[in-house]
Amino acid sequence: MFKEQRYYLFYKYRYYQLCLSLLHIMITHKTKLEDSGTTIFTKMSRLAQQHKAINLGQGFPNYDCDPELKALVKKYLDAGKNQYAPMIGVAELREAIANKMYKSYQKYLNPDTEITITAGATQAIFTTIAAFVNAGDEVIIIEPAYDSYKPSIMLAGGRPVIYELSAPNFCINWDILESLLSDKTKMIILNTPHNPTGNILEKSDMLALQELVSNKNIIVLSDEVYEHLVYDEAVHESAIQYDELYQQCVAVYSFGKTFHSTGWKIGYAVGPPNLMKEIRKIHQWNVFSVNSFIQYALAEFLEKEENYLSLSLFFQTKRDLFSSYLESSKLEAHPSKGTYFQLYDYAKISDEKDTIFAEQLVKDHGIACIPISVFYTSRKQDNLIRFCFAKTDDVLETAGAILAEI
Ligand code: PMP
Ligand code: GLN
Repeated sequence: MFKEQRYYLFYKYRYYQLCLSLLHIMITHKTKLEDSGTTIFTKMSRLAQQHKAINLGQGFPNYDCDPELKALVKKYLDAGKNQYAPMIGVAELREAIANKMYKSYQKYLNPDTEITITAGATQAIFTTIAAFVNAGDEVIIIEPAYDSYKPSIMLAGGRPVIYELSAPNFCINWDILESLLSDKTKMIILNTPHNPTGNILEKSDMLALQELVSNKNIIVLSDEVYEHLVYDEAVHESAIQYDELYQQCVAVYSFGKTFHSTGWKIGYAVGPPNLMKEIRKIHQWNVFSVNSFIQYALAEFLEKEENYLSLSLFFQTKRDLFSSYLESSKLEAHPSKGTYFQLYDYAKISDEKDTIFAEQLVKDHGIACIPISVFYTSRKQDNLIRFCFAKTDDVLETAGAILAEI
């Protein structure tokens, strides 16, 4: 055989080998999250940057957090609190949270067994789902819903069961919710104050939920990251206040939302000792422990009640300011009762899908928002967009003036 022919056969052989191994990789490494895509928050923030638009989309403040909190962070950084924190979180912070929970909800929590510090609420949600949801279990999600719930359930092998709420009230009908329960239901995920609608659950809702899950092997995951952002003198109804419900509940919180520091990614989970024990088993192998010096700083900052009790008035003033600028516009507000989001109906301006309308708003008018259909599995269209009003007053004024002209 000629030398060239031998080379040819050798390379051909190697080529087939390569194709076979690629095929093997494709078969054995099937994606775990089909259609996962990029979050709408990243997409809209990227578009806002590209078009130098005012970003009222992704939920974060455009102003800095309290200088006193920053000074505390520096203090503990310089004090050398730079090694691993305990797995469950710094004791001082867990104690400060227990105090805060007692003051806010008259609920005594044992900081050693009922509170775990996490890398933001997202990790608390993921870990709670991973701890309790097994393959084939059903988890009820109430949509429109925050976008991390469903992929977390699916990664655990669970099946999301969707209860779709409707505009304009987005109220939960507990009989409908009950009809979705089956012997496979393992968890119900709740969110109050609610992102993206700005709704809050009432005492009657919590009592209905308590009755619904009573004597059933169902865990309630209560996402309460906006607990301090409730308006018009309403009070936040926490799942942990309801003694029977609490026995089946894990509530999650976020310092990013409470202290204007979304980039720090620190939050916590609260639940009865038997549930917290399971959560910690996953937390230990997933994260182990969370940023230490910021935990010490947060512990000291929490001592002053005013630091979180002032939030409602602060954000209510922003909501009202933003609403006043848009009063004369063609956008129709769904007044927010909680969170730092407000929905607007744009039907008088356009009959495009909300995702298209949101893109046009960035490109043509320089304002970024979040289209609501992305929070529904069915991509339900209600002509609604969400604006974040956690912005300085000048930004709200400029955005308001632009929106009033459309
Ligand atoms: N739940 C809801 C309803 C949210 O809006 C967010 C976004 N902040 C989170 C959870 C996640 O919070 P964190 O940034 O602390 O992970
Ligand atoms: N919670 C924030 C929102 O709803 C965004 C969080 C994120 O970007 N993942 O806008």
